[in-house]
Amino acid sequence: MSLAEIPAWVFVVEPYAGESLSHFLGRFRRANYSTVNELGEKSGLGAVLGRWEKFRFNPFPTQPQLEALAAVVRVDADRLQSMLPPQGVGMKHEPIRLCATCYMEEPYHRLEWQFKTTRGCDRHQLRLLSECPQCGARFKIPALWAEGICQRCSLSFAEMAKLQKPL
Ligand SMILES: [Zn+2]
Ligand SMILES: [Zn+2]
Repeated sequence: MSLAEIPAWVFVVEPYAGESLSHFLGRFRRANYSTVNELGEKSGLGAVLGRWEKFRFNPFPTQPQLEALAAVVRVDADRLQSMLPPQGVGMKHEPIRLCATCYMEEPYHRLEWQFKTTRGCDRHQLRLLSECPQCGARFKIPALWAEGICQRCSLSFAEMAKLQKPL
């Protein structure tokens, strides 16, 4: 798709420091009233985008793919690249993990929470949550974190902070 075909109404969403691609894409889609299928279609990436939202980066995103996405979301391919795991760092697809204390400070999913090597939050010296501490439900993929609450019992992610355990 050429740049000229991309509609002018794109609402640009600025990535946060350390934000995961999944969370960023969710914010972009909601800001632009767009579905993952529409975004896949516009960028020419198709179903690959849905896999990326689930942290499935195998095969790893290529530069042309990142540039195709960059043209649609209007964020540099380099910045999109920074929302992907560094080379050689394995990703946990599930469970989706959360430092509720980080989320309380700034409400978004950090990429590093899904690294296989991440044992907890270094900033707060707390263990990451991999399920709701009140009802035990798993977290949805970050692309679907519109409200920042447990999908089953509605406890807010920020309130979960007081239930986090030390490292
Ligand atoms: Zn934290
Ligand atoms: Zn819950």
